[in-house]
Amino acid sequence: MRQPTVEWQVCGVCNYDCSYCIQSKKYRVGHPSADDVARFLDFFETLPGTWEVKTTGGEPFAFKGFMERIVPGLAARTPHVLSTLTNLSAPWPVLERFARLTRGRLGIVSASLHLEFTTVEAFVDKALRLRDAIDADARLVVNAVLAPGRLDDVTRAKEIVTRAGLTFFPQVMKVKGGVHAYDELDAPAVSRLVGISPSPRRANVAPSYRGRACWAGAEYFVLTQTGDAWACRTSKRAGEGRLGNVLDGTFALASGPTPCAYDICPCTVPANRGMIEGVGRAARAEAE
Ligand code: SF4
Ligand code: SF4
Repeated sequence: MRQPTVEWQVCGVCNYDCSYCIQSKKYRVGHPSADDVARFLDFFETLPGTWEVKTTGGEPFAFKGFMERIVPGLAARTPHVLSTLTNLSAPWPVLERFARLTRGRLGIVSASLHLEFTTVEAFVDKALRLRDAIDADARLVVNAVLAPGRLDDVTRAKEIVTRAGLTFFPQVMKVKGGVHAYDELDAPAVSRLVGISPSPRRANVAPSYRGRACWAGAEYFVLTQTGDAWACRTSKRAGEGRLGNVLDGTFALASGPTPCAYDICPCTVPANRGMIEGVGRAARAEAE
């Protein structure tokens, strides 16, 4: 079963400055104007079917318009499932309001733990509070980047997160065009943290799905803060798979799947939403 999904970068701005951030500082800026937010909401209102709208950034909560207009607008005007990727730095009253506004509509909160800017203890306290405030059937998952040279800290964080009853999702560090080559000191800890051949639900190891039929562009796309839509992150990086712009009316989805032409699939969202032949949801459906 495929879950149509759009990953919407609602802003570039972020209140953190992680040393391993895949987005360079130059691009971690900006947000849409109030008029553009209104046009984005018009677009989502007319997007046919029920999509999962996963908001990302930057840091979504660092953009005022996110909680003032985007979340209330999507909840009130569209039927879509709302998910978000956040560093969980927003003050508790803001997160509590998010839980209230998304009641009955929330899919997944992907909470990213950035140990350069918070402690695992403070983060887990907030994550547990939010988990208890959101819909009972919504999921809250804790992500952490396997930052080279700091894997002891990540290992300790994993222990604390899992002991608290939260799901821990390790992510190998991505660099331009691929994944970081861990040295021999870090490699054993990376293997321990991600396990052997983990599924895309258990870890992000940025595999290659070259040649497999993929619905990116047809039932999955990424949307930037300026309204440009791309089939997936890798196609965007390659300057291919542009689907037009949702703000100027040129947006159009592809009609069906195409074979993946890339050696890296850096994000697990397409795999975990059943977009890729033989992977994630699609693989389970085939096995059943
Ligand atoms: S919180 Fe995320 S977007 Fe912000 S600097 Fe860190 S990795 Fe980059
Ligand atoms: S498999 Fe991944 S990289 Fe390939 S087209 Fe699909 S989403 Fe893009």
